[in-house]
Amino acid sequence: MKSFAKPLFFLICIFCVVSSNAQTQDSAGVSDTTFVNLKEYSKDFIYDMKYASEDNFLKAKVYDCAECFLRLKTVKALIEANKSFIKKGYKIKLYDCYRPLSIQKKMWEIVPNPEYVANPKKGSIHNRGGAVDISLVDASGKELDMGTSFDFFGIEASHNYSKFSKEIISNRKFLKNVMIKNGFQSFDSEWWHYNLKTGLKDKVSNQKWNCN
Ligand SMILES: [Zn+2]
Repeated sequence: MKSFAKPLFFLICIFCVVSSNAQTQDSAGVSDTTFVNLKEYSKDFIYDMKYASEDNFLKAKVYDCAECFLRLKTVKALIEANKSFIKKGYKIKLYDCYRPLSIQKKMWEIVPNPEYVANPKKGSIHNRGGAVDISLVDASGKELDMGTSFDFFGIEASHNYSKFSKEIISNRKFLKNVMIKNGFQSFDSEWWHYNLKTGLKDKVSNQKWNCN
């Protein structure tokens, strides 16, 4: 497997050098489509990376460590969305970010239903570094009630399912409204999934990140 480590280190360093001059940052060589580690850009996220544990529908730990890699433009948009949540007393909790194509294939073998898992032949936006699976926590770190758990494969996970309390519906709407304002689009059958609109056509990737 090819590793992210060396090119990533190099690119992050370029970013560090140019970040003091924000006007030239994008023209200085750090492309918005570069894969970066979210934690290098913000410490304000809560991590609950389900595929780095056995607490997922694969019942297997398929990531070596709990890192959130995304393309730089996805990171930027996600940080802006998180700032809006923080102003209101909440924070984004992350379940999944970039996902190698090989993991997508494993998921499709278990759940070959495009309403819940993207067909690896086409590739998911997760494989392109433009999708995140998220929820919200309040100031005490408690997760807001979204009606179902993450990766619940049933109609109750849909944005269109209306038989929930006002509180649950309002929690989902709050998450959705802020994400949409920051360049993301929702996915009808999964309340937790958001795609960066400008990331839909980026290339599918199958690199694994370095855990050191
Ligand atoms: Zn997702």
